[in-house]
Amino acid sequence: AVILAIETSCDETSVAVVRGGKHILSNVISSQIEVHKQFGGVVPEIASRKHVEVITLMIEQAIEESGLTLKDMSAVAVTQGPGLVGALLVGIVAAKSLAMALDLPFIGTHHIAGHIYANQLVHELEYPCMALVVSGGHTELVLLESEGNFRMIGRTRDDAVGEAYDKVARALKFPYPGGPHIDKLASESETVIELPRAWLEPGSYDFSFSGLKSAVLAVINQTNMKGETLDAGALARGFQESVTEVLVEKALRAVRAFDAKQLLLCGGVAANRGLRAALAARCDKEGVPLLVPPHKLCTDNAAMIGAAAFLKWQQGEFTSLDMKAEPNFSLEGWAKPSVS
Ligand code: ATP
Ligand code: MG
Ligand code: FE
Repeated sequence: AVILAIETSCDETSVAVVRGGKHILSNVISSQIEVHKQFGGVVPEIASRKHVEVITLMIEQAIEESGLTLKDMSAVAVTQGPGLVGALLVGIVAAKSLAMALDLPFIGTHHIAGHIYANQLVHELEYPCMALVVSGGHTELVLLESEGNFRMIGRTRDDAVGEAYDKVARALKFPYPGGPHIDKLASESETVIELPRAWLEPGSYDFSFSGLKSAVLAVINQTNMKGETLDAGALARGFQESVTEVLVEKALRAVRAFDAKQLLLCGGVAANRGLRAALAARCDKEGVPLLVPPHKLCTDNAAMIGAAAFLKWQQGEFTSLDMKAEPNFSLEGWAKPSVS
């Protein structure tokens, strides 16, 4: 099956052509980062408008680069949610129009299932496996008992990791998105300011990053009030070490508790050097295979949506054309019902 996939949940307009949920024939991405940078974050109305401006061109380019024609497509898939409702709608309307005009099956797809199945585009998955999803809006531990069968075992109770990175970066006057700046600063610093770790109740797989973020802001304010110069590198390193230690510890504990055969790292924050290095070292020590997609497949892209949509294709489960955008779409709700 050749799936034409569209992703417009946030600030990337992306269209891909994916064969068999594994082979990327094309994956074009138009990022709006430069537009949103001047506002310090994604502005929803602007995001929708920019998607409208480029979506047709992206579809044309994805088809052209794939070397195929619209007639060769087996289905049209689109991100149904979660995401910004106005942004999602642009992709959904485009995908529905194509499905209707070409008389093709239509597949509403979960964005986080996409981030997780990005791994399938480059690796062989073995079940059960554990996914650590770290992105701009999500921080979750998801158990995949079998293909397409998602079980959320832990999630953030407040900020997502990427969000915390962006807020800390903003306080240190870095442009949006700030994650990569904090990563660089942290990796290069030889000094460190120790910050608290939020372990929560014993045994919990949940996360919390808002206390850590407040601790960072408190250090900045106190330094300013005393008229001292801030060691921004030490602060960035302290923040990154706190985030990383909790993520690594909980992810490995989850792998052991659920006998996962692999640990999958997914989402935009998977680009973080500190996190990758710490996870790789720990997985190596414990003999756990760690899968990480290449950078381009970690951040938002439509190829990952094509990979996740293939799960539904295989089940022969298609979506009605009156499907609505789901800004708060639940991953477990999208998963196939477990067979008992
Ligand atoms: P979601 O997938 O939850 O809807 P999103 O799609 O906006 O959110 P992604 O595109 O997956 O999120 O990731 C973007 C986030 O990743 C931003 O918060 C950005 O700061 C963060 N990020 C990117 N590179 C790094 C890095 N090297 N270190 C830390 N954070 C990073
Ligand atoms: Mg993005
Ligand atoms: Fe995303």
